[in-house]
Amino acid sequence: MPLREQNYWLTTVEMPRSAESPALPARVDIAVIGAGFTGLSAALTLARRGAKVAVLEAEAIGWGASSRNGGMVLTGMKLGVNQLISRYGRERTQRMYAASLASIDCVEQIVREEEIDCDFSRCGHLEVACKRKHFDDYARQAEVIAREFNHELRVVQRSELSSEIGSSIYYGGMVDEVSAGLNPARYVAGLGRAAMKAGAEICERTRVESLQRESRQGEAGWKINSSRGSLWARDIFVGTSGYTGRATPALQKKIIPIGSFIITTEVLPEQLAHELSPRNRMIYDSKNYLYYYRLTPERRMLFGGRAAFFPENDRTIRRSAEILRRGMIDVYPQLRDAKVEYVWGGTLDFAFDIMPHAGQIDGMYYAVGYAGHGVAMATYQGQRIAELIAGDKPENPFVGIPFPGAPLGLYNGRPWFLPFAGMWYKVLDWVS
Ligand SMILES: Cc1cc2nc3c(=O)[nH]c(=O)nc-3n(C[C@H](O)[C@H](O)[C@H](O)COP(=O)(O)OP(=O)(O)OC[C@H]3O[C@@H](n4cnc5c(N)ncnc54)[C@H](O)[C@@H]3O)c2cc1C
Repeated sequence: MPLREQNYWLTTVEMPRSAESPALPARVDIAVIGAGFTGLSAALTLARRGAKVAVLEAEAIGWGASSRNGGMVLTGMKLGVNQLISRYGRERTQRMYAASLASIDCVEQIVREEEIDCDFSRCGHLEVACKRKHFDDYARQAEVIAREFNHELRVVQRSELSSEIGSSIYYGGMVDEVSAGLNPARYVAGLGRAAMKAGAEICERTRVESLQRESRQGEAGWKINSSRGSLWARDIFVGTSGYTGRATPALQKKIIPIGSFIITTEVLPEQLAHELSPRNRMIYDSKNYLYYYRLTPERRMLFGGRAAFFPENDRTIRRSAEILRRGMIDVYPQLRDAKVEYVWGGTLDFAFDIMPHAGQIDGMYYAVGYAGHGVAMATYQGQRIAELIAGDKPENPFVGIPFPGAPLGLYNGRPWFLPFAGMWYKVLDWVS
């Protein structure tokens, strides 16, 4: 099969479609912007509690990062634990780590309760060290994580690494058995169906263009202007991730959209697939400019990375296919002759401090900044912020932490500095 510039996951699922109603609802309790993991898990939670919810989605259910990702349901956060502790202190970091574990339980529970057929499996993740120094740090990290968070990681020496991965280029690894894998397109499709079944109205091809405060019958709220007309909502929850745009300028200025790209090979023979990943882990390496990879349930090798820093377009996607294929063969020379059948890209949302953020901004609720760790955390934040909107006081250690913008305010939502950031991270990977 010739290379297709298409998201492989979408070939494995029929996405639900929202009812084609000619008009938007005139008035809702909560308008959720974005139909990815964040928005749909919020809509599901709110609708189950009897709220009138509309999800406004510019494109289609799961169109954003939620159907395009690697399907790795990971413990921890993008930043290392020592950095987190020095920035936020022990107590808050312990709560953050606990939230990262709870977020996987949260995905598992939704999958079970809603009977979502998405190949969820607690297969664990493997981090592999590209340098001796990185490997030496694994033992220190595992010790801190065991002591501070009561969570066990297993350090794998280079001599034993072949039981985890069929590649000889790494200096060792670290395994976390709690992480999971799933098919993200099937998961987001299931979330969409569950939210609709609970009573949420999902309005596809409805781009929110502007928001203004407006009271109705003495109740404070928002007038929402969209490409399909306007509606009124008491509360707004923004879950637009790397696709955050002009409708929410305060948030747009705090989020850097960064491209990430994925290829998948043809279906591999069973024996070869077993040799490449004997325990079927979710795998990523220790670089800043990292590769992440896994077998799909159908036994394709899925191999991803930040091949280009700019978000996806025809040019960045095509270039990425070749860059990623070379990266994959460096890791797995056994795949030299394997055909690459799919390539696609998506946009990650990085905050300037590389942390998830949630709470309220300009009177609107939001949850963003997952930095490539969003499958579990976006689901969790959608649920937690929905509970907050419903009047609960849910545990959420990411609410209230400082949410920095660009230094000197030198950013208006157009990431002119991405090529420099890309070069900077490559330099860091050389020297670290
Ligand atoms: C290639 C890639 C690989 C990744 N791999 C992993 C992984 O393996 N593990 C992991 O944990 N995370 C991974 N991630 C990150 C993860 O996919 C995201 O963090 C997560 O999907 C974010 O979900 P979300 O619902 O917040 O945003 P999204 O799924 O991006 O949804 C946002 C939605 O908002 C809509 N929108 C934007 N503006 C408007 C508007 N004005 N009006 C209406 N709608 C609007 C968009 O159309 C979009 O559908 C990856 C991301 C990418 C791109």
